[in-house]
This record gives sequence, C-alpha cells and structure tokens, in this order.
Amino acid sequence: MLPRRPLAWPAWLLRGAPGAAGSWGRPVGPLARRGCCSAPGTPEVPLTRERYPVRRLPFSTVSKQDLAAFERIVPGGVVTDPEALQAPNVDWLRTLRGCSKVLLRPRTSEEVSHILRHCHERNLAVNPQGGNTGMVGGSVPVFDEIILSTARMNRVLSFHSVSGILVCQAGCVLEELSRYVEERDFIMPLDLGAKGSCHIGGNVATNAGGLRFLRYGSLHGTVLGLEVVLADGTVLDCLTSLRKDNTGYDLKQLFIGSEGTLGIITTVSILCPPKPRAVNVAFLDAVGPEGKDHRGAEPGWLRVQVRPLPPCGAALRHRD
Ligand SMILES: Cc1cc2nc3c(=O)[nH]c(=O)nc-3n(C[C@H](O)[C@H](O)[C@H](O)COP(=O)(O)OP(=O)(O)OC[C@H]3O[C@@H](n4cnc5c(N)ncnc54)[C@H](O)[C@@H]3O)c2cc1C
Repeated sequence: MLPRRPLAWPAWLLRGAPGAAGSWGRPVGPLARRGCCSAPGTPEVPLTRERYPVRRLPFSTVSKQDLAAFERIVPGGVVTDPEALQAPNVDWLRTLRGCSKVLLRPRTSEEVSHILRHCHERNLAVNPQGGNTGMVGGSVPVFDEIILSTARMNRVLSFHSVSGILVCQAGCVLEELSRYVEERDFIMPLDLGAKGSCHIGGNVATNAGGLRFLRYGSLHGTVLGLEVVLADGTVLDCLTSLRKDNTGYDLKQLFIGSEGTLGIITTVSILCPPKPRAVNVAFLDAVGPEGKDHRGAEPGWLRVQVRPLPPCGAALRHRD
C-alpha cells in the first residue's frame, strides 16, 4: 500500500509526481527538479551517508579500466556526466542521495549478464534502477554503487491474443504496456499512480499492488515467469508462459518483492486479464467510529453506496 502522505511535504514536491513522467531520460515534476539546477528555494538533498549512520562495505571503486570494459559491453550506454548523474542519484521523494559516478544502460539480458560478471569479478557494487518511483529509496545508491538502469530494455517480446500472456523486457513502462494490451482488448493486471514512469521490472521487484489488486490479485499470481541475471552474471531462465507449472521449485517467486537484492529481473511473462466491457466508479460512504452520520447510521457501521460515475456531478449533488 502507498504510505500515508506526510503533511509536511513541501508544495514544490506535490506539484508533480512520477506518474506523469516519461522514461528515465525525460523527467518531469520532482524528477526534473532534482537535476543539476535546484529551483530557487528547493533544498539540496543531503547525502544518505551523511544523514544516516551507514558504513560502506569494502567494495572496489570504478577505475578507468572498468569504464573501458563497460563501454565495450554497452557501447554508448555508459553515463559518467556528473550533471546527468544527479537525477538517478536521488529518490523522487528527495529524501535520499547517493554519489554514484557511473550509470549503465544495457539493452539486453546478455549485456546485463556481462556487466554483472565483470562487477562480480572486480567486487563492484551495483544498484538496479527502473523508473525510480519507489517509495523507500531502494532505487538509488547509498554510496558510489554503479546504477544499472533498465530504461533501454523496453521491448515487448510477445503477446498471445487468446491467452493474454505478455512477455516483455523489464524496462517497459507500465503505462505503455497498458496501452499496448488495451489495443488488443486486454488490460494489465496492475495499475498505479506511478504508471507513467515505473517499469514492469520495478513493479515485480517491489511486488507492487495498486488499484486492481483486489480484482486481479498479487503479482505472485499474475507473473507467470521471469528471467533474472544473478550477481555473478548467471542467467536464470524461469521464463515460462504456462499458467500451471509444477516442474520443480517455483524460483521466480523469490524475486517478486526482492527489491533487486537477489538479481536483476530482465524479462517478465505476465498474465493479462480480458478488458472489462464496462467500468463503474463507486463512491463509498463510511460512518466514523465517533458517532452517527447526518443520516442517522449507527457508529461502527459501514454504509456503502454505489453510484455510477456518469453523471458524476449528479452523484455528488445527491450526496449533499
Ligand atoms: C504516485 C505513486 C503511486 C504508487 N502507488 C502504488 C500502489 O498503489 N501500490 C503499490 O504497491 N505501490 C505503489 N507505488 C510504489 C510502486 O510500487 C513503485 O513506485 C514501483 O513499483 C517501482 O517501480 P520502478 O520501476 O519505479 O522501480 P524503482 O523505483 O526504480 O526501483 C524500486 C526497487 O526495485 C529494484 N529494481 C528496479 N528494477 C529492477 C529490476 N529490473 N530487477 C531487480 N530489481 C529492480 C530497485 O533496485 C529498487 O530496490 C506508487 C508509487 C508512486 C510514486
């Protein structure tokens, strides 16, 4: 669930949310604000390591040779420009800031595998990042971890128009996937406010719930298969598209909600439900525990009133 919004959030932060943004490269709202130039009056985000008593583990630091190796693995996908690195170093709530000097933008699972193998051999720390919309700071480095962005891994690999099974790369933006399957009379089994920016890989890594949770269930049920690259570069292929698969342990479940701690999700196979023929919006009216409401319901009772959305104005007038 989305945590309750603290009352103290500054107004400049509330003017935009990641849901309105595009991919990593074109941020809006708070993402745009945390670029190189802080807007006047925008406080600088303190470094996480100065704010919390955290200790850097004995990882190596990135050398020129490492950068050359990364450039060979992902030509054109190595970002070291300090200005370009400011945004991906800060979480969108602007509470945490790392000081990574390198961001890598692979396009394929194979490239992710080569990157992680190199980092494993060199003892370099890596922080996976999707749309950087997470609420708990897991998407940004604490120290100088290498940021591995899935932004360029954004291809739909297959869609089955009868079963509704979608197979796509982890960096696909949720809203774009929604559009893709809706054109084919299906919907994504999850929907949330960050959909314009968050990636399906990030959704799986955080086991995101969202607005359709009660109707279509958790990602533990709708994700049919995953391809994951482990920390040493091994590619774990659990990418089945079977709705029932009892061939051994269901390893993919470990990665759903693992926040990138066990490996990098590179491909997702997900079951999309058929698009409903109609959607109705209901207004729920609950009586508080303190006393009766103005229509005399007893305390503690939940009064539920279902009203179709159109005409919304009429429904609201009726309430008064
Ligand atoms: C406006 C708004 C509304 C929201 N509503 C809901 C809601 O209704 N329900 C809900 O459950 N959540 C909600 N959230 C939180 C939501 O779950 C996350 O924002 C989203 O799922 C994270 O996706 P992301 O691509 O932005 O991941 P990021 O924020 O980039 O990363 C999140 C975590 O996953 C890891 N990660 C990212 N990609 C991968 C990958 N490919 N492989 C392995 N690890 C990876 C990161 O290291 C990090 O630990 C909301 C957030 C916002 C901003």
